[in-house]
Amino acid sequence: MIIDCHGHYTTSPKQHEAWRTQQIEAHAAGQAPPPRLAMTDDEIRETITGGQLKVQRERGTDLTIFSPRAAGMGHHLGDATTSEAWAAACNELIHRVCSLFPKNFIGVGMLPQSARVSPKNCLAEIDRCVNEYGFVGVNLNPDPSGGHWQDPPLGDRYWYPVYEKMVEYDIPAMVHVSAACNPAFHTTGSHYLSGDTTGFNQLMTSQVFKDFPSIKFIIPHGGGAVPYHWGRFRGLAQDAKLGLLSELMLKNVFFDTCVYHLPGQELLAKVIPVDNILFASEMIGAVRGIDPETGHHYDDTKRYIDQLPLSAGDKARIFEGNARRVYSRLSAQIAKQTAA
Ligand SMILES: [Zn+2]
Repeated sequence: MIIDCHGHYTTSPKQHEAWRTQQIEAHAAGQAPPPRLAMTDDEIRETITGGQLKVQRERGTDLTIFSPRAAGMGHHLGDATTSEAWAAACNELIHRVCSLFPKNFIGVGMLPQSARVSPKNCLAEIDRCVNEYGFVGVNLNPDPSGGHWQDPPLGDRYWYPVYEKMVEYDIPAMVHVSAACNPAFHTTGSHYLSGDTTGFNQLMTSQVFKDFPSIKFIIPHGGGAVPYHWGRFRGLAQDAKLGLLSELMLKNVFFDTCVYHLPGQELLAKVIPVDNILFASEMIGAVRGIDPETGHHYDDTKRYIDQLPLSAGDKARIFEGNARRVYSRLSAQIAKQTAA
């Protein structure tokens, strides 16, 4: 089985994002938002069969761990109340997709975060995602301000209510920023990759893994700059007397394969142990074009893994085994949804 651990619902029916616009406009006008716009199952089906499901079939992958559109989370917009209503709408929609296509999609939730609002606000939504929707993880935005970094670093106890909940349910978090509202950053270029790198560094210099020995984080987009600069992080950890970087981080931190060229994948697989790499493509996402050097889509990452000089067993861990281990509720959820 080939499990893509990183996909977003980037093709949702237009009513979904249209309501978001109405909600934010109403908030700016000091008014209550209008009721959510209805979407039929057929409208949802159409966006999936012509979108992610079609690409799964073309590329030979089986299951996508699926979450709301990341840039659309927009935690910097509105306030805590708008974030709560928007996260609820987005997660409910993911649940509908997973119910309509139970063999192909398993959900991960977005959180109702807002800059400088305690993450305690997220706990009820995590409960709903796990208990009602059968989601197997969450996306945690380390910078709800959208590129202004106004919240404490991920090592701060500020985040501990979410970590306690993650440990309680044994669910991992993908460290994933949303859209940048700071013009210094390009959302899917510099902001995403610096969010990944920053999140890793914040965790590295923290007590989080001492306080939560079983907690798990996935650093997406191949780990941002981390694998490429592994020597720098090893040296920084050594200078700060934090111990060996591999011992410090690799029981708790995993990297996905959303790297859009073969040399990048080769580096990732050379630097990071196979047990810490999870297959992912983030299709249909930030980079949708075809690479003229290969004639294939940049985000067809399975092709790169297929070309790596690894054993069949190692590739099976990247494609399936590691995802089942890191998302510890995944195997049970696969069985449940397959039976449905
Ligand atoms: Zn993503």
